[in-house]
Amino acid sequence: ITETSLLFRQPKRHIERILRQLGAAQVTSLDRELLELVASECSHLQIVDQLQDKEHDSDEDEAIRMSWPARPPVVTVMGHVDHGKTTLMDALRRRAPGNKMTTGSSKNNIKSGKKKGAPANVGDIAGTEAGGITQVITAFQVALEGSDAAVTFLDTPGHAAFRNMRESGLEAADVIVLVVAAEDGLAAQSLEILQFYKSLLEQNVDISLVVAMNKIDQPGINLEECQYRLENQLLQEGILVEGMPQTDGDFFGSPVPLYPISAKEGTGLDDMIEGLILQSEIMDLRAPKEEPASGILLDARIEKGLGVVVDAIVRSGDLKKGDVVVSGEHKGRVRILKSTQGNTQVSEASASQPVRIMGFDSLPTAGDLFRVVESEEIAQELVEKAAAIKDTAENKPAMMAAVEIQGSGKDTLDKNWQSNLKEKYEIGEADSSIIRVPMVLKASADGTLMALHEALQTLMATSKYKLHLDIVQMAVGPVSENDMQLAGESGAMVLGFDVKVPSSNETEIPVFQSKVIYSLLDSARDAMAERYLPPK
Ligand code: GDP
Repeated sequence: ITETSLLFRQPKRHIERILRQLGAAQVTSLDRELLELVASECSHLQIVDQLQDKEHDSDEDEAIRMSWPARPPVVTVMGHVDHGKTTLMDALRRRAPGNKMTTGSSKNNIKSGKKKGAPANVGDIAGTEAGGITQVITAFQVALEGSDAAVTFLDTPGHAAFRNMRESGLEAADVIVLVVAAEDGLAAQSLEILQFYKSLLEQNVDISLVVAMNKIDQPGINLEECQYRLENQLLQEGILVEGMPQTDGDFFGSPVPLYPISAKEGTGLDDMIEGLILQSEIMDLRAPKEEPASGILLDARIEKGLGVVVDAIVRSGDLKKGDVVVSGEHKGRVRILKSTQGNTQVSEASASQPVRIMGFDSLPTAGDLFRVVESEEIAQELVEKAAAIKDTAENKPAMMAAVEIQGSGKDTLDKNWQSNLKEKYEIGEADSSIIRVPMVLKASADGTLMALHEALQTLMATSKYKLHLDIVQMAVGPVSENDMQLAGESGAMVLGFDVKVPSSNETEIPVFQSKVIYSLLDSARDAMAERYLPPK
């Protein structure tokens, strides 16, 4: 993936996302067909990438970017459980035009799963339409009073278990609002979110952080003390709050604004929204208009009487009713396009706008990208390609989760040995009886490489243990320093079929080389037994 990402000059996470979307997340080596597909997806990503990347190498690019209109910031609110995220989202939702929230909170609706009466909140749009399950809205826009400026809020699940979804939600976000209960300060999930923010910064994602210090209405609260403590906790995490005296040391990103708020009483929310708009001006967020749209899917579901309903956020261009859309193996034509607020139909939507799309033929995956293509034919072609790739990815032996052993007498292992292995290879509880055997495979040609790979599969399938061939690297060419490094990092052994290997090996990495496949397999089997299998 690192090589591919260099090849396409795309951040690694983009390549990973493309592969995931193509259903080929497990692929460790890219064949020609897959590379072509990645390339075609990349050209589409380029535009999304430009939105985030302001380090343009030419004045021309910069001029193009400057010709794009400003777009609203996309904001995601996160926080430790009970720090007030839901209350804050509800308070913000109430400010979104066209939204009337009379009773209840979105949280109660999620929990009860049913709508109890008249529209409880805007999230009930789906429930109202289908007369069934309440679907909490995934995004909405809040405008600043007396101005055109707006903020798009994304609602992503906040619990630790939803980390993945949260991460995919973040692909679309420009700003994270971290909600922290004033009296509690940073808690476990707050730290996790900060960690995630920092990792995004390290990947050069253009994202900023805003802290909302919540529950300032609590009786007897000492605001100054709470703020002082929170600022210092953040400092400990390498985050400098705006207005704090500059201390020595390295900080992540720019100083972050902190807004004292009460989600419950609505105090401080205007300031926070204004602050978010200011933040977006500083970030200089822009997106092209009058171009075929692309964006990110936030939620996809099937609703009775409506078919596939997708919530999405437009990232670039304009999405129009009638457009042909593609996302991975799924396609369709935008039959109905709605604003996610007020349940009103719209004829088009521009960047940062949350929309509800009806018209996909099948159910796409939340977190995936979508894009508009010129014609149904192109859509069909892309969908077929994606499906074919997914097929090969699934059928490639290396990608098989585990090899079931026929007639296996013993599939439970010695406990100690298992925990050692777990420590070493981070095998989860769920598949603790599967033994991962990491390997780096190099061969003189595609044919020999495939032969080696297949032979190893067979070798593993005949073992009485559940062995999983975990390919760390598989490529044509001599065993390089990079291969050795990969093997070292992953605890893999290196097999070179008819290729050169480094003349000296001062590491503990087992390296085998031969022109005879059987002798290579013999060495591999012995080393495998020694390194990965429980002692007899
Ligand atoms: P979440 O788990 O982060 O979504 O938290 P909730 O929004 O459900 O809030 C947890 C509890 O804190 C609830 O009982 C809320 O009523 C309460 N709460 C949330 N915001 C505030 C606030 O600004 N002030 C006070 N006093 N309580 C709040």
